[in-house]
Amino acid sequence: MSGIVDPIQALAGQQEAVRRLDALACDPPQSIVVEGGTADERVALALYWAMRLNCKAVPTPCGVCSACRQIVDLAFSDLLFFDGREGLIKVDSVRETRPVWGQPPNGDGYRVTIFAEAQQFMTESANALLKSLEEPRPGNVFVLAAPQRERLLETLVSRSWVVTMAWPDIRTNTPEIAEWTAALAGFWRSGRGWFERTSPKGAVDKALALQVVLGMQRELRECLKGETSSPVAGALASFDLAGLRRVDLVLCQAQEALNTQVPVNPALVLDWVATRMV
Ligand SMILES: [Zn+2]
Repeated sequence: MSGIVDPIQALAGQQEAVRRLDALACDPPQSIVVEGGTADERVALALYWAMRLNCKAVPTPCGVCSACRQIVDLAFSDLLFFDGREGLIKVDSVRETRPVWGQPPNGDGYRVTIFAEAQQFMTESANALLKSLEEPRPGNVFVLAAPQRERLLETLVSRSWVVTMAWPDIRTNTPEIAEWTAALAGFWRSGRGWFERTSPKGAVDKALALQVVLGMQRELRECLKGETSSPVAGALASFDLAGLRRVDLVLCQAQEALNTQVPVNPALVLDWVATRMV
């Protein structure tokens, strides 16, 4: 199997996503979409989820018990791993597995089925999986890992909880997002220059709001590393550590709100972020 490393180590730079999964573990959603990060990070996060749901150690999996080690080796009896990194995920293999998903797991944790690079689904495979998602069986959960949710069948995404990892290739925000993060940091300082951005009807859709939140998290990471060369990271540096923790929490809560299936007004979520820190 290619590219499997210790998930806990591989996720050192993705602690926000790990925290999000930890928070979900007490009541695991039937299906999670993992997007963002690199392909290896997505696999690591999916395996971390399997460990989290099957290791007896709390709040973080131990990485050394037999369940944890078998999961890393892809040899755990309640782990099914479909690897889209090796080519198309074919409908036959999904159909053959459907009876298994109708059974309770072998152990006392969860049966976790991972589709790595799930954008490699043949449409028929995606539809076969959809049937299983429509007939949920207790103890069976699914992870669909893909670069972006847009590359998956919309009907699969709409049945899933989306966890977004930090995007890998972008060191700095795009000019559009940088304008938004600068406006947010400016509003935190002066209390001005924000609502005229969010109030026009249709000014903020969900994708933009999520990019602004992720862009702000990126600036926060830079600031915490002591990198304050960007104006926004420099502005964040005027908060004390407690203030920065609050920024982190507010951004995480906003991201969660934007990722739930419950319809939210994305402009109001951004306004909430803006006003929480003033
Ligand atoms: Zn363990």
